[in-house]
Amino acid sequence: MSELTINISRLSEGTHLYDFETEPKNLELDARFVDRVFVHAALEKTGRQIFLRVEFRTKSRFTCDRCLDEFENVLSTHYEVVYITEESGARSNSEEEVQYISPDATMIDLGEDVRQFLILAVPLKLLCKDDCQGLCPKCGANRNKVNCSCAENDADPRWEVLKKVSLN
Ligand SMILES: [Zn+2]
Ligand SMILES: [Zn+2]
Repeated sequence: MSELTINISRLSEGTHLYDFETEPKNLELDARFVDRVFVHAALEKTGRQIFLRVEFRTKSRFTCDRCLDEFENVLSTHYEVVYITEESGARSNSEEEVQYISPDATMIDLGEDVRQFLILAVPLKLLCKDDCQGLCPKCGANRNKVNCSCAENDADPRWEVLKKVSLN
């Protein structure tokens, strides 16, 4: 059981709101996740169906793929799920993910879903900013911070050849 657990044993019909906070390590998230995970869940119970919308955010620290600097950004995401209490699942055609829970279930643990959606929220390309200039391939300077003069001084060797040709 994670700290992100909703007690559904005596839930009345209608809307219920929940707010949770937990440490990333309690969700077995790695050290890239650096802030508490804030979770807001809105639950709607109608009959044997529980509709749940879960929004959450945390902060993460990554190494930029281009300039190798560390940067922090806010990761936020959400998911929706429908729980149906039934012994055996009658299939639903709805677009939301449907999970079947036993009529005896007293708890819904959001921990594993929150963990997986946060990992999915990590961008594939990790850039400190969209127009990160990266490192100079010649001197290794971080082009976001310094203007090295490699580009102007070092002409393409093919041009050197052309210069010699034109001098002759
Ligand atoms: Zn960068
Ligand atoms: Zn340079």
